[in-house]
Amino acid sequence: MRIEYEVKLGFKDVMIRPKRSTLKSRAQVDLNRTYIFRHSQKTWTGIPVIAANMDTVGTFAMAEELSRFGLLTAAHKHYELDDWNRFLDGRKPSIYQHVMVSSGTSEDDFTKLQEIIHHHPEIEFICIDVANGYTESFVEFVKKTRDAFQEKLIAAGNVVTGEMVEELVLAGADMIKVGIGPGSVCTTRVKTGVGYPQLSAIIECADAAHGLKGLIIADGGCTCPGDVAKAFGAGADFVMLGGMLAGHDECGGEVLEIEGERCVEFYGMSSSTAMEKYSGGIAEYRASEGKTVTVPYRGGVEATVQDILGGIRSTCTYVGAGKLKELAKRTTFIRTAEQENRTFK
Ligand code: 5GP
Repeated sequence: MRIEYEVKLGFKDVMIRPKRSTLKSRAQVDLNRTYIFRHSQKTWTGIPVIAANMDTVGTFAMAEELSRFGLLTAAHKHYELDDWNRFLDGRKPSIYQHVMVSSGTSEDDFTKLQEIIHHHPEIEFICIDVANGYTESFVEFVKKTRDAFQEKLIAAGNVVTGEMVEELVLAGADMIKVGIGPGSVCTTRVKTGVGYPQLSAIIECADAAHGLKGLIIADGGCTCPGDVAKAFGAGADFVMLGGMLAGHDECGGEVLEIEGERCVEFYGMSSSTAMEKYSGGIAEYRASEGKTVTVPYRGGVEATVQDILGGIRSTCTYVGAGKLKELAKRTTFIRTAEQENRTFK
């Protein structure tokens, strides 16, 4: 047994220090980023916020709506080829810049991924997602996927430490998904004791990835636009959101009426709800590591998107970053013992 004594930080432990700025208004801030991906050498431009590949949030309806604002959606892995055929039929070519096809790591998952990309070779992004990205078999799967799809932009995760980021980049991933345990409907830390405070994970993993010209996706734990800004300030290239995008018209899950209030069900992809839906129950050897909750119904996602993007633009104005690209360079975090004033919450 060993103890690391250096304190690791989450979003709640810091604030961003304001800096003198020549910007007059947040309307002057450009949130678009252009990235060149390490393996395919392809270029992408857009606003680097991604709807999580959860069946409640990573829906085709979400992809259609978020693509209008230049954001991405990781479509969940339970969509079948027929669903993809229906969704992509007649879409504008720009949709391919804003949607990812997700995959698990089983043989069946790989076959389905091959099928979907065979029928829709214009799809650019692949997102290989497992709860624990530390296994040898996961690294092998990333290599196999890179061998099969040399031209594609591959995201892989989740991990939280630099050495594993490097291993996955070298195995063929362009983007590494970072986050174990911070998610809004995640119970991994409670069930297993395993995890890593998300802000420190982002800082350390971004440093490791950028050294190899890889990119990171900060995945999970954002509770408000300020947290998204902190993730970018910490060096995240992309930020993935689940809970913050839940409860909208574009989400999967029924709108329920509970005590006169309209609500939408939201659950983790390892929750018993998801496991019962897709695998006919919880396997004996594993505990459910996700919650099922109801969130207030919030209508269309557009207003939420504007709120999030407006928040990040404002952060940029406070630190004098005319472009999102400059935010990390201009960020100084201060450690704090307070956050929001909650008198009226
Ligand atoms: P949020 O933005 O809601 O805080 O976090 C979203 C992320 O939580 C997802 O992208 C995914 O990485 C993670 N997640 C989703 N479902 C589960 C689950 O059932 N268990 C765990 N441990 N993590 C989950």
